[in-house]
Amino acid sequence: DVRVRFCPSPTGLPHVGMVRTALFNWAYARHTGGKMVFRVEDTDAARDSEESYQQLVDALTWLEIDWDEGVEKGGPHGPYRQSQRHDIYREVLDKLIASGAVYESYSTPEEIDARNEANGRAKQLGYDNFDRDLSDEQKAAFRAEGREPAWRLRVPDDDITYVDMIRGEVTFPAGSFPDFVLVRAGGVPLYPFTNPVDDALMGITHVIRGEDLMPSTARQLALYGALVDAGVTTFVPRFAHMPLVLGETGTKKLSKRDPKADLFLLRASGFIHEGLLNYLSLLGWSLAPDRDVFSRAELVEAFDIVNVNPNPARFDQKKAEAINGDHIRMLAEKDFAERMLPYLVDADVFGAGKAEPTHEQLVLAFRAAPLVQGRVQLLGELPGLLGFLFTDEVSYQEDALASLPANAGEVLVASVGALQLVPEADFTAEGIQHALVDALVSPVEEGGLGLKPRVAYGPLRVATSGRRVSPPLFESMELLGKAETVRRLGALVQ
Ligand code: GLU
Repeated sequence: DVRVRFCPSPTGLPHVGMVRTALFNWAYARHTGGKMVFRVEDTDAARDSEESYQQLVDALTWLEIDWDEGVEKGGPHGPYRQSQRHDIYREVLDKLIASGAVYESYSTPEEIDARNEANGRAKQLGYDNFDRDLSDEQKAAFRAEGREPAWRLRVPDDDITYVDMIRGEVTFPAGSFPDFVLVRAGGVPLYPFTNPVDDALMGITHVIRGEDLMPSTARQLALYGALVDAGVTTFVPRFAHMPLVLGETGTKKLSKRDPKADLFLLRASGFIHEGLLNYLSLLGWSLAPDRDVFSRAELVEAFDIVNVNPNPARFDQKKAEAINGDHIRMLAEKDFAERMLPYLVDADVFGAGKAEPTHEQLVLAFRAAPLVQGRVQLLGELPGLLGFLFTDEVSYQEDALASLPANAGEVLVASVGALQLVPEADFTAEGIQHALVDALVSPVEEGGLGLKPRVAYGPLRVATSGRRVSPPLFESMELLGKAETVRRLGALVQ
């Protein structure tokens, strides 16, 4: 059975690259009916933080990416934090010592440099495998000096080849890297040790991760060989390295610190989780050449790691927003309205201090929601579009005022006259439209102003909403009510 893992080092805020990794692992687990393990690689006490971990959990929970084993979930292979697994690493090290796969190494960096220089060996080649064959007397002598050994893996002197599920056959030539340290002097286990050991002990069958980690695969495979020999595990997982995510220009890697990559900023700007999940899945994968928009269920149904494209993917904000807009349109009306509310509160639409809506405001917001559901790509656009409904003071945008034609006054006066004659009970979108068409659009012979609708309604839109782009005009007027509509039209005349 498929077992995949998401094993971030919890530093910084959740970002697109990290979440894409979680998503592809999750989608593969769900597609195959396998299990997803969420392991925390928190061995770097200086950089890793509990806060970062919690934020990541928050981001994944929001996206409805779930896992089967992990810190809070528990599971048969815990603990799921590396910082709590030191005893386990010690035991595995002992097995590797017993099998002869690792050896004590006393060389200091200075000694390695000095030897390389003396032997005409390039400094960048690093460690020279000097300690591989130390005699018992030499080891004893080092210990007598008070030195403690690091433990290095004896790397096989052959090419290392594996078949990447995304990239095909990959070969690391023999001698590409020296025997490397698994456990530092003093007993600190390092990432090249803990990561494969945990994968082995947790029965991980597929390692799906970013291309940037590909160079470490050679070392991990070398270690895996030793783990199999020592009986720690019986099999080597398959590896799949997902393509890089490039920034908007398509030339540079999307930086972790780029605000565009910040999951919480994306959420705050008004991505809904369905839309963002859909877009993130397109960073290296596609459902079909002509299908950019699909549901979570369709993703799970179709996702396969072998269909991931090895070429770099570009983070395209415009496309992400367009896809999000499609998902917003697909929400049930009530669901949309409920998701809209926090954005209105946060933008202070309901009153100073980010007040929650009153009952009356709530009713109005729910009535207004259907007017704008099809008009936004991000929920963050909603306060701007709907704010005018919840204030007595329209704030006119510069470009809106500048767009007013010379006859705006005449249009407004005629509209006030016409709307005042509409009985309260008929002050509906339909009744309003009827009255305004008669007054503004009908030919002069029939008592109208004979204007084109676009010319006629522009000033009304500005007067009611302060903007050139607003929800549908007649419906907006209905929501404002007769008195307020007439007041706003009159106010712009002066
Ligand atoms: N903790 C590693 C990282 O965040 C994970 C590496 C892996 O997926 O194997 O880069």
